[in-house]
Amino acid sequence: MIDRLQIEGVGMTSRRTRARLVDRLRRHGIRDERVLQAMMEVPRHLFVDEALASRAYEDTPLPIGHGQTISQPWVVARMTELLLQAGEVNRVLEVGTGCGYQTAVLSVLVNQVWSVERIGALLEQARERFRLLRLANVHLRHGDGYAGWPEEAPFDAILVAAAPEEVPPALLEQLRVGGRLVIPVGAQGGQQLMVYDRTAKGVSATTCDYVSFVPLIGGTR
Ligand code: SAH
Repeated sequence: MIDRLQIEGVGMTSRRTRARLVDRLRRHGIRDERVLQAMMEVPRHLFVDEALASRAYEDTPLPIGHGQTISQPWVVARMTELLLQAGEVNRVLEVGTGCGYQTAVLSVLVNQVWSVERIGALLEQARERFRLLRLANVHLRHGDGYAGWPEEAPFDAILVAAAPEEVPPALLEQLRVGGRLVIPVGAQGGQQLMVYDRTAKGVSATTCDYVSFVPLIGGTR
């Protein structure tokens, strides 16, 4: 059983430690105060193994098992900031739930989040965390994110937390006109963070930061 104090955090997981991370993000160019506030609210230490909790507020990725990682806080902040710039953002699709941290940050900023994860064990752990934190606007699916979530499309924005070598066409199709896809694209080792904006005429692409993500892999397990 986890209690109020564990959720709030103490010492290396306290609100003060979280505030220092948020200050660092601000110094490193994150401008959207809504995003910084959301990261102030979501206890990242609950999304990693207890043995790693004391490192949860370092600006670094950490292992979450199954060969996957929780994304670096700066990357989460940057992607979320880019996503919110799409204007009216109410319905968001996330691909790659992982531990659920990015999902939780989105859930405090937008109305509804649909999130797809290919590894069943990670998804179940994330589900338990959302229950604990009472995040009722998150919908989860065990599936292959290459296909998106067609039954719930169109989305105002889509965020992909793993890197394909090329943009999955289904994800562009599931954006509303005016909607935005934020996704790392490229081979293993390093990718370009890309923004795709769907317009009435087609899709426009913008190259953003250089990033490093785990690969987007087809199928489920
Ligand atoms: N947003 C997560 C990042 C997790 S790492 C966080 O904050 O922790 C990326 C995740 O994408 C991994 O859990 C991996 O299993 C998942 N993934 C990779 N390919 C996928 C696919 N085709 N469909 C759904 N999830 C996928």
